[in-house]
Amino acid sequence: MDVPPLATAIEQLTDELRRLLPDDKLVVDPLRRLAYGTDASFYRLVPQLVVIVDDEAELTTVIQACHRRGIAVTFRAAGTSLSGQAITDSVLIKLGSGWRNYRLGDGATTISLQPGIIGAHANGYLAPFQRKIGPDPASINAAMIGGIAANNASGMCCGTAQNSYQTLQSMRVVLADGTLLDTADEASRVALRASHGDLVDGLAELARQVRADDALAARIRHKFKIKNTTGYSLNALVDFDDPFEILQHLMIGSEGTLGFIAEITYRTVPEYPHKASALVFFPDIETACDAVTALKPAPVSAVGLI
Ligand SMILES: Cc1cc2nc3c(=O)[nH]c(=O)nc-3n(C[C@H](O)[C@H](O)[C@H](O)COP(=O)(O)OP(=O)(O)OC[C@H]3O[C@@H](n4cnc5c(N)ncnc54)[C@H](O)[C@@H]3O)c2cc1C
Repeated sequence: MDVPPLATAIEQLTDELRRLLPDDKLVVDPLRRLAYGTDASFYRLVPQLVVIVDDEAELTTVIQACHRRGIAVTFRAAGTSLSGQAITDSVLIKLGSGWRNYRLGDGATTISLQPGIIGAHANGYLAPFQRKIGPDPASINAAMIGGIAANNASGMCCGTAQNSYQTLQSMRVVLADGTLLDTADEASRVALRASHGDLVDGLAELARQVRADDALAARIRHKFKIKNTTGYSLNALVDFDDPFEILQHLMIGSEGTLGFIAEITYRTVPEYPHKASALVFFPDIETACDAVTALKPAPVSAVGLI
């Protein structure tokens, strides 16, 4: 099949989307496209089209239309990414205000969140139960759940123990061809096996191959013992056998390149009512570092060396 040049493909896409979506969902004027050409990084890429989506139906329409034309898409939540993750010179799919539903589960030990919820708001819903979400980026007052999960963002306290990868329970994912998978729903898993058997079996096989290679598996485990958000969460291939667990954990940190996170259910973590901080002076760096090791078994969330 001949693929038309990108500009032509995007013109055709724009015409099609004009018929399928309300006018105000498409941003085509140069000034606003320029404004969406930046995130919190120092890069600039001006999108040729910005589409604002408010629910799964709109998202699926846009993704399928782009997929049919081979047009790359980039998602944008709050746009606070520091390395250009939320910009593109192709089509930018921006979360509108429609993605803000949430559900608490089992005494707030879990929370299901749509991707447009700001991280601090999720913590606000959990605060009466003395719970919070695990990931704690410093941008939590602005960053949204979709971006937090897709970047595997974490801050001073959560480390690698309570990030999105470790606290993920289940996810609704829209794949590049518009297929929806709800990993919490057995019927949805069965349907994906039927429609995308190669993908499901391929993931299981890939994980088997990686685990069979002792040196590679050990290297991956070692790399992910400390914070590592560079590239995909390859630790999913050594941590899980179940292809659905592998798939949803690969989504974490994938920066929107593997699919769209339409909902995520996190296992929540305790939010202690009493907290304290201390400034401690040491005679030298070595003694200060020894104190870090000594503090490890204590309930200390973070230490900083000044
Ligand atoms: C002041 C400041 C402090 C920060 N502190 C931290 C920190 O402590 N730790 C840290 O890790 N980061 C930090 N960041 C970086 C950034 O805030 C985080 O990575 C944050 O999680 C990004 O969220 P966002 O909603 O802005 O996502 P965006 O920047 O809009 O998008 C992030 C990525 O997620 C993808 N994406 C968005 N929504 C979806 C979706 N629904 N499905 C699939 N993919 C999606 C985008 O395509 C993009 O690749 C900081 C940034 C700033 C400006």
